[in-house]
Amino acid sequence: VADPLSVLVQLLAKLPGVGEKTATRLAFHILKAPPSYAQELARAVVDVKERLRPCSVCFHLTEQDPCAFCSDPRRDSALLCVVALPQDLMAIERTGSYRGRYHVLHGVLSPLDGIGPDELRIQPLLERLGRGEIKEVILATSPNVEGDATALYLAGLIKPLGIRATRIASGVPIGGELEYADGVTLNRAFESRRDL
Ligand SMILES: [Zn+2]
Repeated sequence: VADPLSVLVQLLAKLPGVGEKTATRLAFHILKAPPSYAQELARAVVDVKERLRPCSVCFHLTEQDPCAFCSDPRRDSALLCVVALPQDLMAIERTGSYRGRYHVLHGVLSPLDGIGPDELRIQPLLERLGRGEIKEVILATSPNVEGDATALYLAGLIKPLGIRATRIASGVPIGGELEYADGVTLNRAFESRRDL
């Protein structure tokens, strides 16, 4: 049986961007920290897997359904921001300036990986748009090949419904990942969005 320290190092080393060296440093950090930290960390890891579910309206991951963004009466229901992943939504929320609603696709179109429209939450998006409340859809997928293709595809479905489809400006570096963009850049990308 492997000792607990090696097990922890091996598990941490499976995280993206974490090699054996960093994993060892993190494991010793956890070992030195107060017991309460280790317990909270372990509980948080289990909780994200056991307690979070996709929101039945926007598909963001949430404990309460509908999620806080869908149930907040102060948010603008005429404005909908479409993102690829929950972490993109979180990056936009961190800017603190967007006050509309969201829709999470859970991916982008990627024919080479077998990801077509049916693999994304596009049908529920069209059902939401059909209810008539939404006036503008901001397509905030990352400005790279797949993100652009997904935005164009969606614009082709949205515009015939008489709803405005806009694309965030590529203030986010071309080919960049939305979730890593800083707040100022992301803000600018939203403000200078253009019609598709
Ligand atoms: Zn929601």
